[in-house]
Amino acid sequence: MAARAAKDHYIPVKYIKIHKHLFPSNCDLGSTDTGRKTIELCDDQAETALHELAHIWSQANHTEIWVRKLYQLHEEYLEDDEIDLYRRETENRYRAAKKLSEDGEPVKKKRKKRRRGNKRLVD
Ligand SMILES: [Zn+2]
Repeated sequence: MAARAAKDHYIPVKYIKIHKHLFPSNCDLGSTDTGRKTIELCDDQAETALHELAHIWSQANHTEIWVRKLYQLHEEYLEDDEIDLYRRETENRYRAAKKLSEDGEPVKKKRKKRRRGNKRLVD
């Protein structure tokens, strides 16, 4: 899914690696090298991947431009109930996201979801 998102938006990510731990660890869920354009994930949650992808796309830390990119990815690749959930979570965790919603910025409401499938000629 993250790979598709990267492709759809021409986000120049080199690789996404997912690693697992045999034992509980305090590893970060995800980390990104915006310079080398690589992503390491420690869980396989879609939202974590989108979060990191938004860093590469925006080439920014947890700033407003990053939030906007992240929300755009949310809208396109997550289900409606997940969008609400993660938007609230993002607002709780990141100042830029909180500020954006406090400023009453109309966070884009759903364009018509692009139909997937019928435009795809080759898989
Ligand atoms: Zn981050």
